[in-house]
Amino acid sequence: MTIEQNIASIKAALPADVKLVAVSKTFPAADISAAYGCGQRAFGENRTQELKAKHEELPEDIEWHFIGSLQTNKIKYIAPYVSLIHSVDSARLLEAIDTQAAKCGRTIDVLFEFHAACETTKHGWSEEELLMYAEGGEALKYSNVRIRGLMTMASFTDDTAIIRDEFRRTRRLFERLGHTFGDSFDTLSMGMSGDYTIAVDEGSTLVRIGSSIFGNR
Ligand SMILES: *Cc1c(COP(=O)(O)O)cnc(C)c1O
Repeated sequence: MTIEQNIASIKAALPADVKLVAVSKTFPAADISAAYGCGQRAFGENRTQELKAKHEELPEDIEWHFIGSLQTNKIKYIAPYVSLIHSVDSARLLEAIDTQAAKCGRTIDVLFEFHAACETTKHGWSEEELLMYAEGGEALKYSNVRIRGLMTMASFTDDTAIIRDEFRRTRRLFERLGHTFGDSFDTLSMGMSGDYTIAVDEGSTLVRIGSSIFGNR
């Protein structure tokens, strides 16, 4: 199957209101161009230097999503053009993104990364931390970031009941936090190549798919 055929079959399986972000990390610009050629515009990367190089080489109307762990001193490489940062895992990072966005005269859309999985290797906020931070009003004091929702990665397991439960807990938290953040809190980023059908079932509004489009890394 070609990249074009993979995108077509994934899009055919996704509800029209679920956004597809093609995760192009580690793949060359030529593969992104192939996907772009059949209308795909949103791409996900997890390294700032790689994203910067691809942004410089590829068309201006690509919507770049940052999905990896982000160090505060690297935000400046992506702040001028990044469309959505999915991986805000601390208050300190949110503040640093706000600072860099202000320097660019922009407002940057962000998601909080929620740690729903059981693995301790994964990043993100616990439910308690996120509720305390959000309901304390802290997150609303920044004028150059717009908090759009949550991102999560499910556990790496064959047990679909565990995966479903993690996505369901994430959606419940998303709904609860919506009371604090209001109408612009509208994005629930969950689902990858191996689990996106479960994620969509559980209310995902955005899936991040890499290997099912571009092949194994
Ligand atoms: C790599 C990655 C993906 C895509 O994973 P695939 O299994 O290749 O679809 C999605 N989300 C995050 C955060 C990633 O790092």
